[in-house]
Amino acid sequence: MIIGFNHDYYLRFDNKRTILASNPEAVQEKGLSDWISRIHPIYSMLFALLSKPQKKEDAESKIADFFGISFENSKKIIDRFLYKKGVIIGKYGDQMSYFPENIIRIYDQQDEPEILFGEKSDTKVYKPSEFIFSEVDLESRRMMKCPHGLVFVVTTVCATQCIYCYADKSLNCNRFLDLREIERVLREARILGIREIQMIGGEFFLHPQWYEILFIARELGFTIPLISTKLPLSEVELIKFKEFNIRLQFSLDSVDPNVLSNILKVNQSYTRQILTSIRMADKLGLKYKVATVLTRETANCKNLSELYHELEGLENLNVWSIRLVFRSLYSSYRFEDIRVQKRQYDNLYNWYNGIKEINNIYIDFPENYRTNYKYAEGGSENFKGARCSANMSHMVILPDGKVTICEQLYWNPRFIIGNIHESSIDKIWNTPKALLLSRWQKKDIQEQSNCSKCSVYETCRDFSNKCYVNTIRAYGNDNWDYPDPRCSQAPPYINDI
Ligand code: SF4
Ligand code: SF4
Repeated sequence: MIIGFNHDYYLRFDNKRTILASNPEAVQEKGLSDWISRIHPIYSMLFALLSKPQKKEDAESKIADFFGISFENSKKIIDRFLYKKGVIIGKYGDQMSYFPENIIRIYDQQDEPEILFGEKSDTKVYKPSEFIFSEVDLESRRMMKCPHGLVFVVTTVCATQCIYCYADKSLNCNRFLDLREIERVLREARILGIREIQMIGGEFFLHPQWYEILFIARELGFTIPLISTKLPLSEVELIKFKEFNIRLQFSLDSVDPNVLSNILKVNQSYTRQILTSIRMADKLGLKYKVATVLTRETANCKNLSELYHELEGLENLNVWSIRLVFRSLYSSYRFEDIRVQKRQYDNLYNWYNGIKEINNIYIDFPENYRTNYKYAEGGSENFKGARCSANMSHMVILPDGKVTICEQLYWNPRFIIGNIHESSIDKIWNTPKALLLSRWQKKDIQEQSNCSKCSVYETCRDFSNKCYVNTIRAYGNDNWDYPDPRCSQAPPYINDI
């Protein structure tokens, strides 16, 4: 029997632990669920010894020799990883590590020659020496050596001027991240073992070298999950894009040219052009989804029915994602004038319920009119929703090379932690400013904030699931250190969100 480490996952040494994560390519190609855990480096040494598929008996002897344990114990360890169903828990000393099922797997010689013979670029052969440790920390959430993922905001230039725009276009609005800088940073990321990257805008396709960016990223072995666009792409551009097998997200809020002109500030021909582009992507067999942001003008059944009729004939569309507009930190339009009213949402919800049984498109519709706020007790671990990645696992590179902690904070100086033109990824990640933000002291919180008197302050901060963006939306930029709006101690909002 041939066994080995399952290369649908990868290992990245992180100073005092190893990060075990699902390979973005396996997530995209095989639909593998996202996995990330901090494991004791001793286990990564074990996986390193198995990173090249080999006969089970050879693996058992190798593990026994390396760790100085009996052949029987070595066999037991391997069998547990090989056959146990569900999440596997490993205890070394008094520390627990968590592993997904099949982290060691059986290889089929027929199906996997490219892995068996090491021809697949992602089949990295690890060495135990990559994971030598003197101290172990499986607790702290913040990545130690470098971020886990990078977000490149290649430009903030757009094809449209949406009234609900979430981007800060007040500064550097005509900048494009330089291709050679992107390549240099990607090479650095590769050496550091970073696998997760995202390319976003503004409008990604307005970067004059978008094709080259994707080409370089692919050559360096990165898998980009999704690129979002509002730009009507030509057949030639779509064919070029298809080469990369990246999912495309078209934004489409209405099929009525007058409505789109009002919301996106585009000319009357835009609607025809973007619909032609979507139909062309469908015909070419691209992987794509459509996203709709509803404002007061578009949140009506007529608009959604028209969109539905446009989309239902498309063969390759797999998701239509519908969202309600939320307050932008940067738009010059008043949120109160464009927000969806509760009665509008209720009508739409009835429409959605009527159609969801018969539709042939998967519609991702908001289940609630508003996110539930002010409910969580006991700190940020109990805040519902996606886990915040800002300054914990991800960093964001802006078009002028400045680095911030969250793409929605843009050039807010409080959150700028470095500049890729001046420093390397790992150095920026560990600048005093980045570390200070992650360990912000209670004594430095302004007195008016309930966080300054909170009994679980350190626990809440260390779990780091507070959303600075929503806090600033609700209380203003100067009150960035107020409680997250989901916290039960959040005061009444200054701005409704
Ligand atoms: S008051 Fe502040 S520190 Fe305390 S739980 Fe709420 S958000 Fe966290
Ligand atoms: S600060 Fe808010 S928007 Fe930014 S990554 Fe965290 S949760 Fe997301």
